[in-house]
Amino acid sequence: MTKKILILPGDGIGQEIVAEAVKVLNALKSGHGLDVELIEGLVGGAAYDETGSPLPEETLEKARACDAVLLGAVGGYKWESLDISVRPEKGLLGLRKELGLFANLRPAILYPQLAEASTLKADVVSGLDLMIVRELTGGIYFGQPRGVRTLDSGERQGYNTLVYRESEVDRIVRVAMDIAMKRGRRVCSVDKANVLECTEMWREVAAKVGADYPEVELSHLYVDNAAMQLVRAPKQFDVMVTTNMFGDILSDCAAMLTGSIGMLPSASLDENGKGMYEPIHGSAPDIAGQNVANPLATILSVAMMLRYSLNDEANAERIEAAVQKVLDQGLRTADIAGGGPSVGTAEMGDAVVNAIG
Ligand code: NAD
Repeated sequence: MTKKILILPGDGIGQEIVAEAVKVLNALKSGHGLDVELIEGLVGGAAYDETGSPLPEETLEKARACDAVLLGAVGGYKWESLDISVRPEKGLLGLRKELGLFANLRPAILYPQLAEASTLKADVVSGLDLMIVRELTGGIYFGQPRGVRTLDSGERQGYNTLVYRESEVDRIVRVAMDIAMKRGRRVCSVDKANVLECTEMWREVAAKVGADYPEVELSHLYVDNAAMQLVRAPKQFDVMVTTNMFGDILSDCAAMLTGSIGMLPSASLDENGKGMYEPIHGSAPDIAGQNVANPLATILSVAMMLRYSLNDEANAERIEAAVQKVLDQGLRTADIAGGGPSVGTAEMGDAVVNAIG
């Protein structure tokens, strides 16, 4: 059955990088049996300019009706002075919330060809292939009560609440376990169980879920140690699963191990495997419209979409192999060229299409 993909380029370099990802999808459609219909929509500043909303109802309806969403990026200088309720970023957060995307998958992959791009020693990171699974719709970012109150003494006090229901922990750990089954079969659950009761419960639930996956080796780390281990010896990890806030911090740290923001894809999934796929970087207004942005993170987001929402492992691997091939050929966009010769956004996209064959 034909699967529907909503294409949301968004703002800034979003337009350029998504155009290259669409080239790749069309190449797989015409040459490798991919049966998809691509539907276009507006989000972010581009949507605000046209409709007065960063997430028009029409876009939301299309997103609900599709099997997956491919998003470029949102935001830019032009919209920074708008009221927070209509800023481009609201479009992204609204999509995550309305689609119930509770599982954020952030791979940190360092292609051996780019080992020199990392600030860590090449032998520590070369060949790194780590997946961080971050809980995205719960925890301290959403817990009530929250706010800033004035105490009797007149001093202000800020407060937030870390809350997780057992079912929320259960479902995110299951996502991590299922992913590990397709990879190295090791999951490290990250918490602060020595200090926070909420994450003490997280650890207990994780262990219970782990018992349902006898083929997966489950370990537990406190978040401070996990941060240390990520920088000391990141290749020890296969899949990490953690709370919203710990995941926010650890996944950015892991991304930087690779040194190349233009290379990293991400996925956000709902209960049924429907997902939104996007590069981890933003709209890069400083380089927008110049044909210099790296489209590979977006193209690799398409590979994740095929793997996790469309169940098409063969074409996912085809894209990943094509990216390896263009890197082997020495093609680099400016961000990963280390000052050497570089190709433009469109040339890189064309090279991947050629490598797919
Ligand atoms: P950014 O990720 O857009 O850019 C950071 C730096 O990385 C810039 O120097 C940029 O040129 C470079 N860069 C980013 N992607 C690149 C690519 N594909 N190829 C080459 N270089 C690349 O982050 P920022 O500058 O903090 O934010 C810019 C705008 O993007 C803001 O409006 C911000 O709110 C928004 N933003 C959006 C998302 C998203 O849509 N998911 C995420 C982060 C930031």
